[in-house]
Amino acid sequence: MRVFVTGAAGYVGSHCLRGLLDDGHEAVVYDHLSTGHRGAVDERAELIEGDLADATLLRATLERGHFDAVMHFAASAEVGESVHDPLHYYRNNVANTLSLLEAMREFAIRRLVFSSTCATYGVPPTVPITEEMPQAPINPYGRTKLAIEWMLRDCATAWGLGSTALRYFNAAGAAADGTIGEHHDPESHLIPLVLQVALGQRDAIKIFGVDYPTPDGSCVRDYIHVEDLATVHRLAIESQSEGQFRYYNVGTGEGVSVKETIEASREVTGHAIPALPTARREGDPPQLYADPTKLMTELGWKPIYTDIRRTVETAWAWHQSHPSGFGASA
Ligand code: UDP
Repeated sequence: MRVFVTGAAGYVGSHCLRGLLDDGHEAVVYDHLSTGHRGAVDERAELIEGDLADATLLRATLERGHFDAVMHFAASAEVGESVHDPLHYYRNNVANTLSLLEAMREFAIRRLVFSSTCATYGVPPTVPITEEMPQAPINPYGRTKLAIEWMLRDCATAWGLGSTALRYFNAAGAAADGTIGEHHDPESHLIPLVLQVALGQRDAIKIFGVDYPTPDGSCVRDYIHVEDLATVHRLAIESQSEGQFRYYNVGTGEGVSVKETIEASREVTGHAIPALPTARREGDPPQLYADPTKLMTELGWKPIYTDIRRTVETAWAWHQSHPSGFGASA
């Protein structure tokens, strides 16, 4: 397939792009490199430095590209930032996806894989989370992703768009060959921050809340290795038929606490990694982990990384060999 990939200079997008290319597909990347990194984009793909808000460039690119499918990663994805600047999130996520869908309709591209999130569930009534649980996001980020899922569903009926919303849990780890990995600026995610402590770039890791109703009092998350995530994207795009809207939880099915993640990182790095219990972070649900049964049954997917230590090992290899990430971005 010829696949148009938005946001492939970002963390998840860059790993999924490689999976796609390794599997023999062709890809054109569309990314404005404001948060992503040129060095993360596989050289086998053509990179167009473009903004989804630039409808002229977007249309021209889709018109000449003759694409069979789209993978759409480009989005803003910081919960805290979304609370303070919701309109940026509605513009960048919802409005830009609307432009993308309009252009796809115009050029009759009817296959899409979309990066959704477990944040669309808000605080789930129970865990593990199944796809049939109510979607009730508690922050603007989650609401923008849910609004996009609604658009996709409606476009399936109206003009035959086939799409899959992949509701990611916590993407983690790095490519097993150590060439690409996670680099956000500023960094806010647990595993890279913990590893920055191990590298001596930070003094300690803060544990946001130790009084949650969880086994050890810290929050529980489902860390899915980014290469397992890439496999899910490939399976989804290859099995996508037109006119069908699908949605899957994408996680390992294992809940791991913040304290357990730090402990695993101590084992992997051999570093003491001082940890400081602090107040809860606003908007953090106590426990989020997936029931991935639907994904496994319908797409035949199985995670390779089921032990948090193996996932941290790949991240550690990346951070050690790239202590400044991709360096000066773009
Ligand atoms: N977390 C933490 N200290 C940090 C960063 C994150 O305790 O410095 C916790 C956070 O409260 C959450 C978990 O680690 O429970 C994962 O957070 P992250 O930001 O990596 O991903 P999120 O779950 O927000 O998507």
